[in-house]
Amino acid sequence: MSTSGSHSHNHDRSPETGTSVDAVVVGAGFAGMFMLYRLRQLGFSVRVYETGADVGGTWYWNRYPGARCDVESMQYSYSFCEALEQEWNWTEKYAPQPEILAYARHVAERFGLRQDILFNTRVTAAEFDDETGRWWVQTDRGERVNAQFCIMAVGCLSAANRPPFPGIERFKGPLLHTGEWPHEAVDFTGLRTGVIGTGSSAIQSIPIIAEQAKSLTVFQRTPNYAVPAWNAPLDPHYVKTIKAAYPELRAKARARPTGFYFPFNTKPALAASPGERERQYEACWARGGLPFLGAYGDLLFDKQANDTIAEFARRKIRAIVRDPKTAELLCPDNVFGCKRLCVDSGYYAVFNQPHVQLVDVSKAPIERVTEQGIVSGGVEYPVDAIVCATGFAAITGAFERIAITGRGGLTLSEKWRAGPRTYLGLTTAGFPNLFMITGPGSPSVLASMIQAIEQHVDWVADCIAHLRTVGARTIEPTAADEDRWVEHVNEVAAISLRSTCSSWYVGANLPGRPRVFMPYIGGFPIYVHQCNEVMVNGYKGFIIRGATAAHTPAHIQCTKRWQVPLDIEVISPAAIAAKRVPVV
Ligand code: NAP
Repeated sequence: MSTSGSHSHNHDRSPETGTSVDAVVVGAGFAGMFMLYRLRQLGFSVRVYETGADVGGTWYWNRYPGARCDVESMQYSYSFCEALEQEWNWTEKYAPQPEILAYARHVAERFGLRQDILFNTRVTAAEFDDETGRWWVQTDRGERVNAQFCIMAVGCLSAANRPPFPGIERFKGPLLHTGEWPHEAVDFTGLRTGVIGTGSSAIQSIPIIAEQAKSLTVFQRTPNYAVPAWNAPLDPHYVKTIKAAYPELRAKARARPTGFYFPFNTKPALAASPGERERQYEACWARGGLPFLGAYGDLLFDKQANDTIAEFARRKIRAIVRDPKTAELLCPDNVFGCKRLCVDSGYYAVFNQPHVQLVDVSKAPIERVTEQGIVSGGVEYPVDAIVCATGFAAITGAFERIAITGRGGLTLSEKWRAGPRTYLGLTTAGFPNLFMITGPGSPSVLASMIQAIEQHVDWVADCIAHLRTVGARTIEPTAADEDRWVEHVNEVAAISLRSTCSSWYVGANLPGRPRVFMPYIGGFPIYVHQCNEVMVNGYKGFIIRGATAAHTPAHIQCTKRWQVPLDIEVISPAAIAAKRVPVV
């Protein structure tokens, strides 16, 4: 395993202007890296821009204490290369951030990706030239590059949300954000530490910060449900068994609404007796992690069913946290799994420690930050260090940071003012040859990200190769087909309880954002099937301009690994209509 690398080798280069390439890829996380790999394999010239000093994206930035992936390590990895699958060794059930970053670096080295990636470079603008049908991409280093295709591999949770608390600029101590964590180790020893937020990042980091800090004050606006991870070293025998049948596991994962595999029960919760339910919830709790939501098939569709699992989870919190007042504050009263379920290692028990306190800022929001404290409800809580675990401008935030201008001067921010509009979460009308990897309107964060990324990248690579075959200049969805897709995304969101609460899925975590359920919740295989259908029917719903050769649909093939059977287990349109598909 190689983790070295001259990843900052191009730090001091002079900016290039006027270079022309087939494709620009924005971002060198798992999406950008695989996009580069696929396009290069097809013989295209590619330039990748990355803000960070190295590959890894999410896993490059989110290096806060305790950061690890909530999808089991044996599944949270690329599936495109069998040799890579076989040679890489994960050490824990849930991989810690440093190991995932090491894996990303290993992939970059193994496939020689770094030579086409320019690090420490932020793309600031991308503008479509109507005359030439090509994109001009601009960077913060003065680069200006011309490309036929522009692929946004910018991540769904990459634009950190730093709430503008009045006075925060005057705070004297370290001020950190979990999503932009420093590269040097941060030591909280002897520090009175305040953590703002109680989402996944907070829930993972709090137990570790508590071990070091002199005191820990957690500022909670909304309590979250967390299920134990029961993380452990991986048993070599288990790893061997998985590796002996990796293709089978991947196929099963692709057939799941989540894009990762775990046993789930399709029966309705309310059909079981209270005693049976209790045993089932206990068994699923003992298994831990996100699969807890697979205890019954109707938990995200039927409020009464959901009440049963929510009450079970609240009882668990009350059993762990000794102070009844703190326990009640930690008990969410909203739909279980409505916000992204958190996976924890000792989170609730932290509040039994005498140096840890919970401050409810739901009714008395944080008013301001002083030089040495956080003020809520007129009380100043003294702190020497602040950790903002305040999340992200999710899904569209990274797009908003780039001035993207399409046909006829239309800007993406203007087009998406009332919420993102895409066709398949891959493209958007008025922006020819602009592709998004895991964009809004695709399963993205509701699926295992690397699987979602691989499917998008393969689709885009197949599409670009097709355009070359037919000598086409541009591809763009029709407005009517985009409208139909947006309607479908909304229609499936409406059947899920997930659309009912104020989460980052709907943009409700940040003031002023339009309230739209952004990911596609209809299930990964159903989504993949629709992408394939569009492709094999001659890119149905797209306008292809300037083709010089006829290419009939019969010649169009999508990458084999995505030819996923639709009828595995409960995953079918009928099951969705009957609200029998648990989506994690
Ligand atoms: P998050 O889930 O959005 O949580 C942010 C927290 O900050 C929330 O508790 C939020 O409260 C609070 N907050 C935001 N603004 C605030 C303000 N002005 N005052 C007080 N509190 C404020 O962000 P996250 O924890 O970084 O997680 C984001 C997503 O990243 C997760 O849902 C997950 O999908 C992913 N993630 C995954 C992993 C993993 O796989 N292990 C780990 C970390 C993150 P409200 O709830 O009231 O908005």
